[in-house]
Amino acid sequence: MTLGFNTLAIHAGAEPDPATGARQVPIYQTTAYVFRDADHAAKLFNLQEVGYIYSRLTNPTVAALANRVAALEGGAGAVCCSSGHAAQIMALFPLMQPGTNVVASTKLYGGTIQQFNNTIRKFGWSAKLVDFDDPKAIAAAIDDNTRALFCETICNPGGAVSDLDAIARVANHHGLPLIVDNTTATPFLCRPIEHGATLVVHSATKYLTGNGTVTGGVVVDSGKFDWSASGKFPSLAAPEPAYHGLNFHAALGAMAFTFHSIAVGLRDLGMTMNPQGAHYTLMGIETLPLRMERHVQNAQEVAEWLEADPRVDFVTYPGLKSSPYHNLAKMIVPGGAGALFTFAVKGGYDACVKLVDHLKLFSHVANLGDTRSLVIHSASTTHRQLSDEQRAAAGASSNVVRLSIGIEDVRDIIADLDQALTAATA
Ligand SMILES: *Cc1c(COP(=O)(O)O)cnc(C)c1O
Repeated sequence: MTLGFNTLAIHAGAEPDPATGARQVPIYQTTAYVFRDADHAAKLFNLQEVGYIYSRLTNPTVAALANRVAALEGGAGAVCCSSGHAAQIMALFPLMQPGTNVVASTKLYGGTIQQFNNTIRKFGWSAKLVDFDDPKAIAAAIDDNTRALFCETICNPGGAVSDLDAIARVANHHGLPLIVDNTTATPFLCRPIEHGATLVVHSATKYLTGNGTVTGGVVVDSGKFDWSASGKFPSLAAPEPAYHGLNFHAALGAMAFTFHSIAVGLRDLGMTMNPQGAHYTLMGIETLPLRMERHVQNAQEVAEWLEADPRVDFVTYPGLKSSPYHNLAKMIVPGGAGALFTFAVKGGYDACVKLVDHLKLFSHVANLGDTRSLVIHSASTTHRQLSDEQRAAAGASSNVVRLSIGIEDVRDIIADLDQALTAATA
């Protein structure tokens, strides 16, 4: 019998500590692990035996988290990283070579657009950003050098829902892996692998940890992609010069991506999650289902209240009937449309800034997915470095404010918005 999601959130990846019986996953605050003998050491380095060598590569606390998130997403394996942005680089790293590109959605989180438009170019990679609502546009952007498609389940901040099944069909047709950033939905609301995703990336900083204490990331591999079929993924499916000529796919099958990410990715890029952070995220995930239920319930109520208010121009929550993504949301995130959305205040940029300054319960921060309700004016902060056009495409125009609805009493959240709207539109 397979265990249910609530059970997995508490138990997956963790057993009582073999050394002490400790019930909670201990923080293994150690850099290195004593080898039994020289032969044991050699076997570990050859990947003939799985075990711990050095915490830049693996650590028992971090491994428990990787296994838990893999179980929740229905993946074959996972690798934890120092941040969500690190996870994105780690997801692309085994797939890409200089001169290759990733076809990605224009509606990605602003930080990701920045990373893809500028920073990855230093590795000789590039991104082609297109409208992922249009499968034909995705197909048209794919060329011989494309190595992956990349989108978000529910886009931050605009509340667009991606039609993962349709996008996965395009990826399959071209023999490419689909990478889905599932940060804003979490596996409680959507399991992208069930919709055809190959890799799922997370900023564990957000809902997985859930209380704004940690910076972390995770990459989950479905284990289902055939890296050998096209000849386009030599790091995974040809002798890898970075690991004494090992063909990871031939040797490790469904675990090829995960082992490559640890043995080469973490070894050489060093974007490692620390055991303390992994422990906090494990604790957070134990209550992920309970929190997400309240997050989406509150978000739905707040969105409906805002939409009915004459001081508000529009609300982008995909749980609203007025959203162009409403029907898609019912298919992709049937348990609720997340807790992140934007709304436009009558009075534009100035009214938005005033509203942010008058909110009391809401914290004005560059974060989301906290138990606390959070607010930010994306255009003057997270999306500041983007052009007006890019901001509009990403759903972060200057007249909208982004809310991350927390799990407080919903009447208190609404009361705070009410008084701030009065001040902002006076
Ligand atoms: C925050 C965020 C990221 C980046 O994660 P960090 O942990 O801040 O590096 C990536 N994608 C989405 C959707 C995010 O919200």
